Amino acid sequence: MMAEFDAFSDIISTVAGPRASGLKAADGAVSLMLDVSGMNVTERNEIEAAMRSALLAAGAASVRIMLTAEKITPRLIAIASGKGGVGKSTLSTNLAVAMARAGRAVGVVDADIYGPSQVRLMGADGSKPEAAESRMFPIKGAGNVPFLSMAQLVNPGQAIAWRGPMAGNALSQLVDAHWGNVRDIIVDMPPGTGDIQLSMIQKHKPIGAVIISTPQDLALIDAMRAISFFDTAKVPIIGLVENMAGYLCPHCGEMSDPFGSGGAEAAAVELGIPFLGRIPLDINIRLASDAGKPPALGDGPISDAYAAIAKRVTEWIDKPKANAA
Ligand code: ADP
Repeated sequence: MMAEFDAFSDIISTVAGPRASGLKAADGAVSLMLDVSGMNVTERNEIEAAMRSALLAAGAASVRIMLTAEKITPRLIAIASGKGGVGKSTLSTNLAVAMARAGRAVGVVDADIYGPSQVRLMGADGSKPEAAESRMFPIKGAGNVPFLSMAQLVNPGQAIAWRGPMAGNALSQLVDAHWGNVRDIIVDMPPGTGDIQLSMIQKHKPIGAVIISTPQDLALIDAMRAISFFDTAKVPIIGLVENMAGYLCPHCGEMSDPFGSGGAEAAAVELGIPFLGRIPLDINIRLASDAGKPPALGDGPISDAYAAIAKRVTEWIDKPKANAA
């Protein structure tokens, strides 16, 4: 009997390593637990079938496998702006891609109900998430970054009429998905600081917020509103990113500042919040983004700029927090 137990024990560790535990074997009736956290449905079915057939082949009369999943609750990092069109979605994608390139298990949730754009930015047009046990599986986007978008929940335009609680519930569907081993989720927030945004962060409190702004004074006033919004909601500000700062003319090579430059950095200093970096206004960012190829995947100054911002954000995430719950 002991030899039989040892034989089954060898098999389960060969098939599933540390994922297998709790082996019991009595008169050929074998039971065990299998940790399937981080696996998708196919992987789960495969390992379960492999385990069953290996045990039956070794003489088990019956096999009972209990699947368990140690649920990792990913941390949320909000990417926010006072108004639309400042490059918030583009930053969300490229920040996640840059973090993934640096070896982080990161995902993206597109919570921008007014203009969900991550499906295009992630190069995943036409993708539809699968679901199991009424939870969705994220889609693998550019750079292998998993993501889910409000666009996959609703028809375009439909969400405009939502009220805060509906937006909060829809966000739950995206956040409570099968995220597997993802530790950090970059949340592309709806622009602005209203009831919708408040419901969302009350329901799913981010560990921190990155605010993005263009360098003009008016945009910065909106950014400051976003900063005080997160302050009031007691969500720490990770820092401020300046986008579309300085324009490199593709024809003459001259650098100009259509919206000024450095305004966000000055504002960050004045407000006592970290300045995370600056992304220039560059037609290639728009072209690559529209083609579903995030520039952070490439090489050169633009991808370096995103990588530098990603490094600062990652350092902030990893830093022990005085007020950690
Ligand atoms: P938001 O999410 O704030 O509404 P988007 O990320 O959708 O903004 O960006 C708005 C538009 O500006 C998009 O067409 C995008 O490709 C473009 N864009 C964003 N950042 C830059 C940049 N640094 N240079 C050039 N175009 C940019």
